[in-house]
Amino acid sequence: MQDAFGHRISYLRVSVTDRCNERCRYCMPEEEQAWFPREEVLGYDEMLRVLRVGATLGIKKVRVTGGEPLTRPGVAEFCADVAAIPGIEQVGISTNGTLLGRLEDGETMAARLVKAGVGSANISLDSLDRESYRRTTSRDLLPKVLEGIDAAIAAGFASLRLNCVLMKHQTEAEMVPLIEYAREKGALLRFIELMPVSTQEVLSEDNFLSAGSALRLVEAHYGALKPLPDFRTNGPATYYEIPGSGQKVGFIGAMTNLHFCEACNKLRLTSDGKLRPCLGSCLEFDLREKLRAGCSDEELAQLIHNVVARKPKEHDFRHNYQPNRRMIAIGG
Ligand code: SAM
Ligand code: SF4
Repeated sequence: MQDAFGHRISYLRVSVTDRCNERCRYCMPEEEQAWFPREEVLGYDEMLRVLRVGATLGIKKVRVTGGEPLTRPGVAEFCADVAAIPGIEQVGISTNGTLLGRLEDGETMAARLVKAGVGSANISLDSLDRESYRRTTSRDLLPKVLEGIDAAIAAGFASLRLNCVLMKHQTEAEMVPLIEYAREKGALLRFIELMPVSTQEVLSEDNFLSAGSALRLVEAHYGALKPLPDFRTNGPATYYEIPGSGQKVGFIGAMTNLHFCEACNKLRLTSDGKLRPCLGSCLEFDLREKLRAGCSDEELAQLIHNVVARKPKEHDFRHNYQPNRRMIAIGG
């Protein structure tokens, strides 16, 4: 599938729930709690149907996300079903890590996911300082996350990434400890610019730390970093190498990188069954009612094509974007 601007669509992010066991300030502020009623959330069978049809149209990679995907019962079995879809080559999960170490029948959730065919885990980690972690997420769960990261390493994901959202007056002090921790654990660390997908209050100028400023802070500690223009993972991160150790660190500059959208290959399915062609655009198209009204696979395929045709050239974040959904309700 290709859109009007030459983006080749091969990647679908599926949010399996809008619920979460944390309340990150930039995603799900405490005061904004309002989950979708259960009947509005797609069943796994409905999500699998969209994925099967998507795979026939060229979707090859799937990332399971949320909310916190590991709070939804049956998620490992769902991942196994996704991995078994003909045409799906890679399955990943985005998680806050708090439940990766949880044991069920003597096995960690991380091990169950790897067994299910999940090859990559992206784990959010904004801080290694317990108090600062608690302030950002409103939950005192850092020890659980660290346990979850160790469980992920033991489980043997092919790719393990740590994501830190950049916040001014906070992340500055966290960058070097996070880099050292990621090196020790053999994980790829990325710093992500804050995007306007939450309340305006959190996204004020005063909280914004650009990827460029973050890079300079890292360089002030380690010396000049070497750009790695040819090193790419699935996403829009720009990678650099730290002198001496050779460790790679990524920066995701959704707000300041003007080329951010050029290689975008993604669609997003929200847990309430909306297909979104772009994270940073209010455009969304309902699949749930069509699915529940008994549409055919051909009709579903046509709907997906129509959404791809409406994919914008670039996100709207720099143009007075007014979020119509919280990040938690879209799926990061
Ligand atoms: N709960 C999981 C997690 O925290 O990784 C998966 C869902 S979360 C919405 C996916 C990613 O979106 C996380 O890495 C999170 O840090 C990021 N995110 C959430 N709100 C954001 C914002 N306002 N700006 C930038 N990234 C954000
Ligand atoms: Fe939950 Fe992830 Fe959003 Fe934090 S970023 S509130 S962990 S969904």
